[in-house]
Amino acid sequence: MSASPSEPETLENYVGGAWIRPTATGLLDVPDPSSGTLLARVPRSGAADVDLAVVAARRAFLSWRDVPVAERARRVLALRSLLEQHADELARSVVRENGKTLEEARGSVRRGIEATEFAASAPTTMQGSFLEDVTPGVDSVLVRQPLGVVAGITPFNFPIMIPLWMAPLALVCGNSFILKPSERVPITATLLARLVDGAGFPAGTFNLVHGEVAAVDALLTHPGVDAVSFVGSAPTARHVYTTAAAHGKRVQALAGAKNFLVVLPDADLDRSVPAILSSAFGQAGERCLAAGVVLAVEPGADRLVERLGRAIEQLAVGPAHEADTFVGPVIRADHRERVLRWIAEGERSGAKIAARGTAPPPGPGFFVPPILFDHVRPEMSIAQEEIFGPVLSVIRVASLDEALEVANRSKYGNAAAIFTRDGRSAREFARRIEAGMVGVNIGVPAPAAYFPFVGWKGSFYGDLHATGRDAIDFYTRKKVVTTRWF
Ligand code: NAD
Repeated sequence: MSASPSEPETLENYVGGAWIRPTATGLLDVPDPSSGTLLARVPRSGAADVDLAVVAARRAFLSWRDVPVAERARRVLALRSLLEQHADELARSVVRENGKTLEEARGSVRRGIEATEFAASAPTTMQGSFLEDVTPGVDSVLVRQPLGVVAGITPFNFPIMIPLWMAPLALVCGNSFILKPSERVPITATLLARLVDGAGFPAGTFNLVHGEVAAVDALLTHPGVDAVSFVGSAPTARHVYTTAAAHGKRVQALAGAKNFLVVLPDADLDRSVPAILSSAFGQAGERCLAAGVVLAVEPGADRLVERLGRAIEQLAVGPAHEADTFVGPVIRADHRERVLRWIAEGERSGAKIAARGTAPPPGPGFFVPPILFDHVRPEMSIAQEEIFGPVLSVIRVASLDEALEVANRSKYGNAAAIFTRDGRSAREFARRIEAGMVGVNIGVPAPAAYFPFVGWKGSFYGDLHATGRDAIDFYTRKKVVTTRWF
């Protein structure tokens, strides 16, 4: 990074173990969403910058793949120690450039560390299998080997956690890795690259290329890239999946979501309401597991809407760094405008605003007050499309069967949850809901890093999911050696 005292930093790429200025011209501003203050400028790398990173990564791969996995895991453990030492700095960087509250940011750092710890178990998880005498005197052994160069393309909403879903696992499996972080949160990615540098990974095994569409498209089409792990919105995920696959690459593309929470009349509202609020309005609704719709099963909707409404009116909206803030800013002014258009669209289509949070403080931050819509119908676009802001819709339904039918009509299938005291209903819901991550009395059912992060339907393109054993399979290819000794 370079900066004079008065100038915000201009970020650099990290390629082949060195910090370099991209050759492409053009910089983007990185403002603090809480205040609009300019934090840094990020370069818009182009195809030539991506090519430099791919060449460095390929060269590094040729020796990195031969480093024993236990030694690679030691570097990952060194990275884990550095992440722990710098956890507070990372969390504060996330607060500044993303607008999460400090508590939310700390939680996301913790989740990233958890993924790093899982990666360090590769000497066990990378093991293959062996069968003797597949025919008399002939044995077969299955081994897992690295793919080569892996690109990770990440979204704005988890600046540290999602890069850490990818880089430690890709590296420990013997690949080299190129991170193309969201151009809206490039500062935390830069801190991560410094920590990777300090952890002793050989030059070129981890590379950082800043940028946006041009950098992504160069990665998707570069013949030196073997696999692409992507997390972002549904339209971009489809583009990444089809383009990278057409260029012969292995791809996993985690996409957008619309998550349904079912609340049965017997739910414990004292505990359920805080969990629903946190799911819908935590991180200003900018979570792929955020609740978008509550399916309120009758009789009980009036009581639930009244409880939610009262609580929403109390939620503090404000700058992410202030201690009592519950709903921070959304990421950019244009995103705030998009969320406000969705709120107008909800009213236009006949939904009723049942509650509205407190007005945000005056000033240039990108705030949206939390909104609760009641009497939403399943066919309304606010019930179907991802809003990615602090907006929650209530659809009233007559039964669990009807709730399942409405939720299962969604084109997405990331997460879903049920709130109830009844085990049989919970079991029925978990069995029949068409979503990959299911909560029972849990509003954000994020799997721990040693399980896969399993979106279904339009929330995921690909086969092998991120994190857990799926990730080990994603970052390796299998080889079966069949042997006979004369
Ligand atoms: P995004 O699609 O705008 O951007 C994601 C990445 O793709 C960024 O690195 C960006 O530079 C790049 N990109 C954007 N437009 C592109 C284009 N036209 N061509 C090529 N590359 C492009 O997503 P976002 O707004 O940063 O992130 C929020 C979205 O991510 C939400 O839809 C959310 O649901 C989703 N998300 C999903 C998961 C999941 O696990 N399914 C997790 C986190 C976020």
